[in-house]
Amino acid sequence: MLVRSVPTFKTYSFPHNLSLDQFFYSYRNILNQMIGDIWNQIQWREKTIRGKKQKRLLPTIPSYSFKKTLRNQYLTRWEYAAHWVDSALKTAFSIISSWKKNYVRGNRKRKKPVVKRCFVRVKQTLMKISDEKIRITIKPHQHVNIDLSKRYFSIKGRRIGEPILTPTKIHLPIEETSSTKKPQPQQQQKKPPPQQQPAATAAVDRIGWDSNKFSVDGFSPSHGWIKIDLKPLHTLHVTYDNKMRNINKVYSKNRRKGKQLYRKYGKRCRNRVKNYLRHIAKQIIIVTASPFPATQQHGFEKLEKRQMNRKNKHKWNRELNQADWRLLVSLVRNLAPVVEVSPFYTSKTCSRCGGLNKALRSERVFECPFCGLRIDRQLNASINIYLRMRGVSPRREWFDATLIAAGGLPLMGAERSDPDELARGLNDALKPQVYVRLPLTT
Ligand SMILES: [Zn+2]
Repeated sequence: MLVRSVPTFKTYSFPHNLSLDQFFYSYRNILNQMIGDIWNQIQWREKTIRGKKQKRLLPTIPSYSFKKTLRNQYLTRWEYAAHWVDSALKTAFSIISSWKKNYVRGNRKRKKPVVKRCFVRVKQTLMKISDEKIRITIKPHQHVNIDLSKRYFSIKGRRIGEPILTPTKIHLPIEETSSTKKPQPQQQQKKPPPQQQPAATAAVDRIGWDSNKFSVDGFSPSHGWIKIDLKPLHTLHVTYDNKMRNINKVYSKNRRKGKQLYRKYGKRCRNRVKNYLRHIAKQIIIVTASPFPATQQHGFEKLEKRQMNRKNKHKWNRELNQADWRLLVSLVRNLAPVVEVSPFYTSKTCSRCGGLNKALRSERVFECPFCGLRIDRQLNASINIYLRMRGVSPRREWFDATLIAAGGLPLMGAERSDPDELARGLNDALKPQVYVRLPLTT
């Protein structure tokens, strides 16, 4: 999931058992045909590059009137509800414009994008939500229903965005309650206070966070597993490392000039990292927000001990850069209470039975030699951090009741082909309930 700026919707995914294969193929078909039609109508203009003989070809995407022509053209040979044509058109145009953005930046070639996956965007006009199910119109007067009764989240009084439907799952964006948004004076006056009343105000909402090189993973029984992707941050570091390597060459020839460049790019890198981590910290607060934020607590591993691990190159390699990690914790601390817990064996302890798997190296999945649990290593670590925040040891009964039994989190498949996929039982790894990836802002 790619999130521009600060989102107000959280996407929940869950399985359905509709068999609509023919429909999905038809939709993908017209989607690709539409992309082709738009592609053929693109106007290319030449632009000279300053200081070079070469010229660049820049695209202009056809306008709204063309959308209308396409719509009429596709409606004549479409057997499903007309709104699906609008949905496909919207998707086709957004695919083309995102291709354009990337092409202009130089990240994409002048090649028509092709949709390979089966998915449909369900427009508001195609669905209706009654308390326990979503009704989706496939053909005129022909509907399918998706059962929502077993969901683990509340939709009461929350707006629902346009879901994405795949052959096996539905991804449903649900508006965050107004209390979860950052206070904006104008908005607060207009919006009524949150309707949800705290059931037990004394309860502390604790979220344990495990940080790694590529993600920060959080766990709490009320939010499930939250994965915040840090790959863009890693990309940022790689970019600047390469820049610094080039500056090394300059430095060897001209020290003064080299020093100047080091300062300039070093500062620029730090600023961009800090900026990005600020967004991540905000996101951590947003995705975990409870109706009574004063009682919220975020748990991280204690810093000093992590610094000792610095000599351990293998571990160092897996973890988030020390300075970045320290900065992230302090940025979260500015926004909400933070507790630090002992980092001792957080990833090697089984969060179900408390057994130690000393043999664990860098595998993605933690396997417990005692109780047989198979679980994503980062989720396992964040559950352990959560338990340490509460000052309790892992207990099978608690784990089974919270993560497996009815009313717990939906279990997801062990094969990690997709960040959110189905689960079958105790021996399967879980998948994140919430997945966030913030783009690098330039
Ligand atoms: Zn175990």
